[in-house]
Amino acid sequence: SSGTASLLCARGVAKSFGGIRAVRGVDFDVAAGEIVGLVGPNGSGKSTLLGCLSRDIAMDTGKVLFNGTDISGLRAMQAARNGMGRTFQSVRIFPELSVWENALMGRQWKGVGLRSMLCPADAATRRRAGELIDLMGFPQLMHEYAGNLSGGQMRLLELVMAMMSGPRLVMLDEATSGVNPTLIESLKHYVKVLNRDEGVAFIIVEHNIGFIFSIADRIVVLDDGKILANGQPEDIRQNQEVIVAYLGA
Ligand code: ADP
Ligand code: MG
Repeated sequence: SSGTASLLCARGVAKSFGGIRAVRGVDFDVAAGEIVGLVGPNGSGKSTLLGCLSRDIAMDTGKVLFNGTDISGLRAMQAARNGMGRTFQSVRIFPELSVWENALMGRQWKGVGLRSMLCPADAATRRRAGELIDLMGFPQLMHEYAGNLSGGQMRLLELVMAMMSGPRLVMLDEATSGVNPTLIESLKHYVKVLNRDEGVAFIIVEHNIGFIFSIADRIVVLDDGKILANGQPEDIRQNQEVIVAYLGA
């Protein structure tokens, strides 16, 4: 379900860590409502690129336009307020809070300060949190400690939290690692539902090739900090260079 309007437009993104050139001048676009799969070997720069796009990592060079705004100089919280949501390679939830409370914590990305977080959420926020928890299929776990969820349920909870800011683009970093096959199917389902019903675009970093090829409108292959290939899933599957570099010759 790829749209035509450009939602994210990044040019010349580069980031080094000391002598390691993690991302080497990458151009990256996402159309409104598009699902882009970002794949590549370990250490190819996928997480660093996501960090640069979401403004969690300060770029060395490059420009990021999002939703018509130049966010290159903004911090992650400000980018989030502009409609960007994300999850991280390592699970980031609050294990000693309930599923419900975690969902409400997602408000922080809307720019709700810590002081306001101590006040009860307004009716619209509570309604949305309930709606998302229902949608992800665990209303019965509403009051369970998040720390008691399975790895897959934690990933779904992170998606709920990311959705609480009302994003137009959500980035998922290795969301299926440590997730059982049933919940991988659930995750796929909910990504598709959010994409179809709410027009949310996604960048999905993934090692599970079956998963990513079945969900993405387009695949970008990163190798050694550079884009090796960019195209339709069926074309990428047949690209010999990609097969050698990533899929295993
Ligand atoms: P991927 O997500 O594709 O596995 P990363 O973006 O995590 O790749 O890493 C790209 C390269 O940058 C790797 O060589 C990694 O070791 C290095 N790197 C990533 N983050 C840091 C960091 N915070 N400090 C130093 N090196 C880093
Ligand atoms: Mg990574």
